[in-house]
Amino acid sequence: MDVLHDALGRPLRSLRVSVTDRCNLRCAYCMPEQGYRWLERERLLHFGEIATLVDAFCSLGVEAVRITGGEPLVRRELPRLVEQLARRPALRDIAMTTNGMLLAEHAEALALAGLQRVTVSLDTLDERTFERIARRRGLPEVLAGIAAAARLWPGRVKLDTVVLRDVNDAEVDSLLEFARERGIEARFIEYMDVGGATHWTPEKVVSRDEILRRIERRHGSIEEVRERSSAPAERFRLGDGTVFGIVASTTAPFCTRCDRSRLTADGHWYLCLYARLGLDLRALLRAGASTEELARRIAKTWQVRSERGAEERLGERERGPYADSSALREDPRLEMHTRGG
Ligand code: SAM
Ligand code: SF4
Repeated sequence: MDVLHDALGRPLRSLRVSVTDRCNLRCAYCMPEQGYRWLERERLLHFGEIATLVDAFCSLGVEAVRITGGEPLVRRELPRLVEQLARRPALRDIAMTTNGMLLAEHAEALALAGLQRVTVSLDTLDERTFERIARRRGLPEVLAGIAAAARLWPGRVKLDTVVLRDVNDAEVDSLLEFARERGIEARFIEYMDVGGATHWTPEKVVSRDEILRRIERRHGSIEEVRERSSAPAERFRLGDGTVFGIVASTTAPFCTRCDRSRLTADGHWYLCLYARLGLDLRALLRAGASTEELARRIAKTWQVRSERGAEERLGERERGPYADSSALREDPRLEMHTRGG
């Protein structure tokens, strides 16, 4: 199938589907505030509606879907959605990003339903630091979730760590070791100034170069894995063959090859993590648009896509949080936990 390209030549190949904006954690880099305006429950897409929208995207060449949230596993009966998506032959890759809290409980049903890959967010191996970051307890549950994932999806599990200065940056080596011992690929993510990160400052960002220097001090020389990929992570190899990734979205954005877009749980489609406005696909769907009509609207929107949010942020001289808490209350879809990260 011909792949649809945007105004900067980037293909429409993958879609992140948020199934809820609710979460059982309150990570300081994602949800630092006290109160939240949640999406209205009756406005959330039903699984059938998500499947119809995915069909429209697939008809334009999308072949990879990542289920996300909020915390996707707080959405009831999630394996039923995975099962519906797994029936779409056009979808070659169905993945999920989770905080792992409920993963041990649901992993088997998800694997049976057809989930192919899992990324678990793990920022620390220390219970007190976990509570400091997530503002909830739960490290043992997350570790049990990772163990279940490593058993059910061998070689297809990743661990994502947001590196925060003076909070968990000293744990980069132990997290890398933890992942290596379990045959899992670790990925270190620079702290981003996205909606939701209302306490972001440039000083709290630990850059890719710093992360590499830290790892190099402990493990010796690092080789870059050269590959042509639209994946956000740059991959590196240690002398013993261990491969890890770094997502340098803050200091070295990958906008020029970004092929992802995001569907919120209430059906708004965003072309960039930093976009202020999205296309309300739910309204079109509930007004009776056919899959073909939806695909036409999606195609028209993608063809003029020129967003390069992270690169534009990089050019800003006085860089601070992207949105303040009152802007987020006005428009909860600006939040990272609504967009799905
Ligand atoms: N709740 C799930 C989780 O935590 O994996 C899925 C949703 S979460 C919004 C998706 C990803 O976004 C997580 O890996 C999280 O660490 C990342 N994230 C959230 N806020 C971030 C920020 N300010 N900078 C970098 N990554 C962030
Ligand atoms: Fe943390 Fe993910 Fe929940 Fe955000 S959505 S608070 S990153 S667990």
